[in-house]
Amino acid sequence: MTPSTGGGGAARTARHYIGGRFTDSHDGATFTVTNPSNRQPAGIAARGRDKDVAAAVAAATTAFEAGDWARAPASQRRSALFRVADAIEKRAADLAAIQALEMGEPIGEAAEAMVARSAWNFRFFAEEQELAANQSYNLDDRLITYTLTHPAGVFGLITPWNGPVMLSTWKIAPCIAYGNSAVHKPSELAPLSIAMLAEILDGAGVPPGVYNAVHGFGPEAGAALVEHPGIAGVSFTGSPRAAQDISRRTAGTSKRVSLELGGKSATIIFDDAPLDEAVREAAAAIFSNTGQSCVAGSRILVQQSIYHEFLARFEACAERWRVGDPFDPDTVIGPVVSEAQYERVKAYIELAGTEGTILFGGVAPRDDGLFIDPTAIIDIDPGARVCQEEIFGPVAVILPFADAADALAIANDSSYGLAGYIWTGSQSTAHSVALQLEAGMIWINSGFARDLRQPFGGVKGSGEGREGANHSRAFFSETRFVSFPVGRFDEAGL
Ligand code: ADP
Repeated sequence: MTPSTGGGGAARTARHYIGGRFTDSHDGATFTVTNPSNRQPAGIAARGRDKDVAAAVAAATTAFEAGDWARAPASQRRSALFRVADAIEKRAADLAAIQALEMGEPIGEAAEAMVARSAWNFRFFAEEQELAANQSYNLDDRLITYTLTHPAGVFGLITPWNGPVMLSTWKIAPCIAYGNSAVHKPSELAPLSIAMLAEILDGAGVPPGVYNAVHGFGPEAGAALVEHPGIAGVSFTGSPRAAQDISRRTAGTSKRVSLELGGKSATIIFDDAPLDEAVREAAAAIFSNTGQSCVAGSRILVQQSIYHEFLARFEACAERWRVGDPFDPDTVIGPVVSEAQYERVKAYIELAGTEGTILFGGVAPRDDGLFIDPTAIIDIDPGARVCQEEIFGPVAVILPFADAADALAIANDSSYGLAGYIWTGSQSTAHSVALQLEAGMIWINSGFARDLRQPFGGVKGSGEGREGANHSRAFFSETRFVSFPVGRFDEAGL
């Protein structure tokens, strides 16, 4: 197989987008973006450092203070954000191709879902900011109080590579919808798609300086953004390691911080579950996006009585997860994103081979791209490293359990708590397990599905804060209250 390059010979570049202009770094520094399907250069990106971040924060602050966006009527912001959503849909094929090129996500169904969700992020928050109510209370007919919400200022948005457009729009849309300005530091592994997204925002008439993007590396551009005194807060999605650094750098400041980290989520399958669907969705939960998803169901817990039947069916199902060129519409699993990620996943699979048994899959050496076959590990202790650490590759561990209490003990034996998937024919089992499962988001008899009004985020080591509807609104807004007495002030007696 010779992976294609996505067509078109022109060199792709990601320049910073600052104050409505596409610019190089102040010192002209760049870095190469690599195509994981063939390890060849895919493009060049500007390498931002503190001066570029400072220019972006200054542009964002100027735009915020000018108020053309921050104080614009909500209906005006809605119109602009709807134009962004329309433009995302219009450029769906380009966005899918550039993501396939730089991070290997297949252009088929997964890309369609990414585009649909990215557009939805903008439409959803465009409407949310217009329709959201303030709160008003009447205290015993003596005091009327009401809240007012305002944009909070300039935010740093730091995003990962595993769903560059979808995960970035999930932060950009609420940040600017509620009237703030944004300085976005996208992942150094996927800057090209974000440069395209910046073009879309630019073309849709979002005023200059409201959205800014500075490309570069985490410890350089990312750290400079986090430390900049001009930002009101940081919304971050990524690794616990980077999150710790962000927490250290923001400690002792009044910056608000939202951290969405990883998971080691459990798919729990009881013997009364609809097994065909459970097998299909358990595979989708771990193999989608090559396992590079924070909500991946990377631990599959199966009730002992159906364990062997499940293994046979799961292996048969995994064969349909075709690994290959992300530009081939029949491909469902592309390469992992980077050489470092490839080596990391490979090391975990090798470790699993010594700690347990590889049921199927593994890493077949090849000299083209960073491809790893869907892999399943069995006969392994739930406390083993591959059962505890986030691998971020198409690697499932499958563990048997006796009953609900046993399933919960295994599932909750994790430092993470992002998602959970429960499969059972019993409503009471489903509810009681959901109640006790330490996870921020739980799906019963279903794969991953979103309602953007519900909170997205995890418990324990999976993060801090929630995103979605009123949660994003609270994070990206200042809320104040005003009160006045009903009747005479001295009669209010408060
Ligand atoms: P991964 O290892 O999966 O790439 P990271 O947490 O390293 O996840 O990266 C997620 C995002 O966080 C990227 O945009 C990256 O550049 C950024 N980042 C990494 N380290 C830091 C840091 N110390 N400060 C700020 N941003 C960082």
